[in-house]
Amino acid sequence: MTKYVFVTGGVVSGLGKGITASSLALLLKSRGYKVFMQKFDPYFNIDPGTMNPIQHGEVFVTQDGCETDLDLGHYERFIDEELNYTSNITSGKIYSSVIEKERHGDYLGATVQLVPHITNEIKNKVYEAGITSKADIVITEIGGTVGDIESQAFIESLRQIQYEKGPENTCFVHTTLIPYIIGSNELKTKPTQNSVKDLQNMGIRPNFLVCRTPFPTNDSIKSKLSLFCNLPKCNIIDCVDVTNIYEIPLNLHKQNIDELVLKQFNLKENKADLKDWEDLIHRMDNSNDEVEIALVGKYVELHDAYLSVMEALRHAGYKYHTKIKINWINSESLEKEKINLKEIFKNTKGILVPGGFGNRGINGKIKAIEYARVNNIPFLGICLGMQLAVIEFARNVCGISDANSTEFEPLCENPIIDLMSDQKTVINMGGTLRLGNYNCKIKENTLAYKDYKEKNIKERHRHRYEFNNKYMSTLENNGMVFSGINEESNLVEIIELPSHVHFIACQFHPEFKSRPTRPHPLFDSFVKASIDHKIKK
Ligand code: GLN
Repeated sequence: MTKYVFVTGGVVSGLGKGITASSLALLLKSRGYKVFMQKFDPYFNIDPGTMNPIQHGEVFVTQDGCETDLDLGHYERFIDEELNYTSNITSGKIYSSVIEKERHGDYLGATVQLVPHITNEIKNKVYEAGITSKADIVITEIGGTVGDIESQAFIESLRQIQYEKGPENTCFVHTTLIPYIIGSNELKTKPTQNSVKDLQNMGIRPNFLVCRTPFPTNDSIKSKLSLFCNLPKCNIIDCVDVTNIYEIPLNLHKQNIDELVLKQFNLKENKADLKDWEDLIHRMDNSNDEVEIALVGKYVELHDAYLSVMEALRHAGYKYHTKIKINWINSESLEKEKINLKEIFKNTKGILVPGGFGNRGINGKIKAIEYARVNNIPFLGICLGMQLAVIEFARNVCGISDANSTEFEPLCENPIIDLMSDQKTVINMGGTLRLGNYNCKIKENTLAYKDYKEKNIKERHRHRYEFNNKYMSTLENNGMVFSGINEESNLVEIIELPSHVHFIACQFHPEFKSRPTRPHPLFDSFVKASIDHKIKK
């Protein structure tokens, strides 16, 4: 029988519910259980695909092409499992599916209501995740804060699941805040008591409290919480502020949360194997060197817009005991006439141009790419970053001065980046993205091959425009190598410049596949090249 863990949040948002859920999942996996994760988001967008990255952070993409909340990225990085379309459910998805069924006559004339129709739909999503993943334990995070109107249907569904599956198969972990009051120098429990009361009013008694706090709590705080919130002291876990999120699993493990959850489920406790994770923390703690990498993007005011890219850089850094210092550069700021690139990049040892949509800031990115190419600075281009690297090369090396993408100039003479011909009819109706995993064949004797050490790879995509193969031979004749191709559709996936110290760009998003204990090959070699570049100077 599948076991279900539900992670809710109280008091305020942004407590790190996703990290708590991921950490617990990692710990249960380390004890030999197959774990699957999902997140319910109370908003009405069908998925975050159309949401502004500056408001909502990056859109994470699963291997089966689902556009999801960035927490799914944390899940994958912590548990090192590939998630899928059952992993991110929004109110929008739930309601649209219920309304579709109503129109289809599936409810046989019944009055369609929040309970049971919406709640059944939600419960089915939880059960579906258990069935399709064949996991021993499914961990479901509920977005938002307990008490929000928006999340009530979700909480009510969890209550029903608990009733249906029984308390030995369901476990509620409530993450909450213990604020510190300066002056009286005290940690306060009242907000937690109130948010647990809110949950209890909805029929749910949490089995665990994970308390976000600036300092460790003490016995008297735990006694108070135990009394008022109706749970044993040992089930009250401190989650003390840390600078590095990857420390959290070990901090929770020290307080036995994984062991206690398994006890509640009547599952064997098995010994936890956390060796890889402990090694990782050891490497992080001993990362004494630092390398500066410039990230040139247009959403830089919200670093979460590039969360997976940032993490992937760090993962590679850990491997080399090196901290990554990101030089955040707003690409639009590079567009000014008299800009001193030398000054901006003076400490930069590698330049990364990530993905993006629309033409704001593209000329700044092209300038940064040219600067990396001409000055032999290690370069990694991702998605839009690859498209602009090709445009820059066509313009400045091949002499096609008006080379462009039809995304920015629909009627351009030299559409070196273009929609595929069969996409052109669809795009007028709203556009279609190449999403999720695609095969890529890697050419031998290339940097890509040196990085991946294999010929057939799969990488995740999220974009509409493609390299226009009409221009391939011109670019090749000028020294560009097309080192990765999707053979099924004859699409360019990786380009590189062998004459340069390290210049590589890909049409896909390698950042989604990087893991803290296993950096992605393209990030690994880019960070290594940047470190070498620093040493050389
Ligand atoms: N805007 C580009 C496209 O749609 C690149 C997308 C991206 O970088 N994710 O093809």
